Amino acid sequence: MTLDTAWATKWLVGAADVIGERASELNELDRAIGDGDHGENMNRGFVAVRASLDDLAGGAAPSDVLRTAAMKLISSVGGAAGPLYGTAFLRASDAVSGRSELDASDVVDLVEAALGGIEERGHAAPGDKTMVDAWARAARSARDAAAAGADAAAVLAAAADGATEGAESTDELLPHKGRASYLGERAIGHRDPGAASSAIILKAAAEAAS
Ligand code: ADP
Ligand code: MG
Repeated sequence: MTLDTAWATKWLVGAADVIGERASELNELDRAIGDGDHGENMNRGFVAVRASLDDLAGGAAPSDVLRTAAMKLISSVGGAAGPLYGTAFLRASDAVSGRSELDASDVVDLVEAALGGIEERGHAAPGDKTMVDAWARAARSARDAAAAGADAAAVLAAAADGATEGAESTDELLPHKGRASYLGERAIGHRDPGAASSAIILKAAAEAAS
């Protein structure tokens, strides 16, 4: 599939489906090292995103879809994750503004811009046991795949695999940001919920392109 507006819409609808299915698992992860609401927060956000997609004007570009999602995530997710995901999608939207179809380098730009927004907003670095660990690994894998000549869908698949690895890597990390940081060593052995939801969202992006 070409990475156009239909893809962007399919991505967010697919993400909303999987976030809905896995909300209790995300709550469970957050219960272990936070306050247990991450799945609920994300599900509320993606239900709103899904509804907002129906109001998009004909002729909308992928960047318009991402901007609409950003606005809904900011206004409805809440918690720490709402502004972080909102900023990620706003920056991703800006990164592909003016493009009707994304190529491999646009996909790299999208993922890197989302990462940059999250880092700027939350001041977390890779290794701090946050969603940054998923996005940073995703960006690296996307860059590597594009440099090796992969097409846009394959770059997205690489980003999704990277995000999954990045989320898994948080299990053994000591938390330095967010609620989990209050737990210190007791958080070791638990996956960061925001990194897990980030991996779900990027997997949905890749599946929408396949
Ligand atoms: P809250 O912590 O307010 O209950 P959520 O449970 O919805 O919000 O989201 C928690 C997730 O937000 C964490 O798992 C982590 O990935 C992410 N997070 C929290 N603080 C930061 C930060 N400063 N930078 C990046 N990500 C963060
Ligand atoms: Mg929480």
